[in-house]
Amino acid sequence: MSRSAHPAGPRHADVLTDGHYSAPPADLNALDPKVWAHTVGRDADGAVTVGGLPVTRLAEEYGTPAYILDESDFRERARAWRTAFGADADVFYAGKAFLSRAVVRWLHEEGLNLDVCSGGELATALSAGMPAERVAFHGNNKSPEEIERAVAAGVGRIVLDSFQEIVRVAHTAQALGKRQRVQIRITVGVEAHTHEFIATAHEDQKFGIPLAGGQAAEAVRRALQLDGIELIGIHSHIGSQIFDMSGFEVAAHRVVGLLKDIRDEHGVELPEIDLGGGLGIAYTSDDDPREPHEIAKALTEIVTRECESARLRTPRISVEPGRAIVGPTAFTLYEVGTVKPLDGLRTYVSVDGGMSDNIRTALYDAEYSVALVSRTSDAEPMLARVVGKHCESGDIVVKDAFLPGDLAPGDLIAVPATGAYCRSMASNYNHVLRPPVVAVRDGEARVIVRRETEEDLLRLDVG
Ligand SMILES: *Cc1c(COP(=O)(O)O)cnc(C)c1O
Repeated sequence: MSRSAHPAGPRHADVLTDGHYSAPPADLNALDPKVWAHTVGRDADGAVTVGGLPVTRLAEEYGTPAYILDESDFRERARAWRTAFGADADVFYAGKAFLSRAVVRWLHEEGLNLDVCSGGELATALSAGMPAERVAFHGNNKSPEEIERAVAAGVGRIVLDSFQEIVRVAHTAQALGKRQRVQIRITVGVEAHTHEFIATAHEDQKFGIPLAGGQAAEAVRRALQLDGIELIGIHSHIGSQIFDMSGFEVAAHRVVGLLKDIRDEHGVELPEIDLGGGLGIAYTSDDDPREPHEIAKALTEIVTRECESARLRTPRISVEPGRAIVGPTAFTLYEVGTVKPLDGLRTYVSVDGGMSDNIRTALYDAEYSVALVSRTSDAEPMLARVVGKHCESGDIVVKDAFLPGDLAPGDLIAVPATGAYCRSMASNYNHVLRPPVVAVRDGEARVIVRRETEEDLLRLDVG
């Protein structure tokens, strides 16, 4: 992220120890369409609206904190990915970003497939009517029960992640009298995050089977020998929040290299290649993500070119966007509880949620933006930090933010781009109850995941 030094001098510079910060935006009431869901705007009273509904009414009806999800935006983004990749490719939505039965139905209706990586995610997918053949099962340590359920349900593919798993899945399928379609996940030595990628990253991570040292080739050899599985392709996922396509270029080059080796050694041309997910979104105005059609064009060109030069038929491509579909479609609505100015430092704004509904700031040092949404304000910008209500000083939601200087308890503020990896990573730390997910569309709101209650909490506590 490119951030500029603030010209105003020590007032801000002294307090931002990580050395970068944005200048206050020219207009604190403006809502950058890059980071907010498509239908977000302001009504005549200044309150932010989404799907035609003011957040003030949503807060009254559903309480705070709450994740507010713009259903038509979700559908548009899902459709844009689907359309961009066309009939000769598959788009698997990565369920771990955010999964609920409503989301599964939207994906089904929009023609997307679904990635799951646990029995719980599989159960959610199947219970909402996603056809099993459109589900891919992931994970580096699937339990024998999970493998059995996935094979028995007839999932379209299992992505194998270790030598043990090749054998486990083959045996399970054979015992069930089935032949399971599988891909092998390899690590190609590319690591991509945000604006940089490393082409020579060593494969020091838990996912995948390394291409280096011939391990991936050996995994292919074994998979091709087993009757219970049908090896249909190679899978590679290189990182997250990626803006730069050059990491995919190197990854595709290496995956196609393996396909070529497989052809030369076994006389088999594997029909599929999966390039994973990880495409970036705008969390702040500094981020400039690519459109799905640009990504589709780039990836298709890369794979086609690599295959032509290896004299291979171009395999069917699949991709697995999670964040890029759901991330921008939701924001978290909070009520301000306390406002604590620290002289010469900044103002701490406490909200009624925190690290239990958004762990990404604490976990990844993620950046977010924030806005006052229950009204507009002409007050001077104040340097703020939005923090939660948890007993932990690292409980930060937005590390560096400018909010209006007249911000007061009772105001509603919202953090955009929280659709991915927020509800799905939510916890009950401090026995705080997990917020609901409220979907809005065309002037109607409905709860798709309800707020947790104390009864829910105590039900698990069996004494
Ligand atoms: C996490 C993950 C994804 C989705 O990543 P996003 O950053 O949400 O697009 C896709 N594929 C695999 C294998 C993953 O682990």
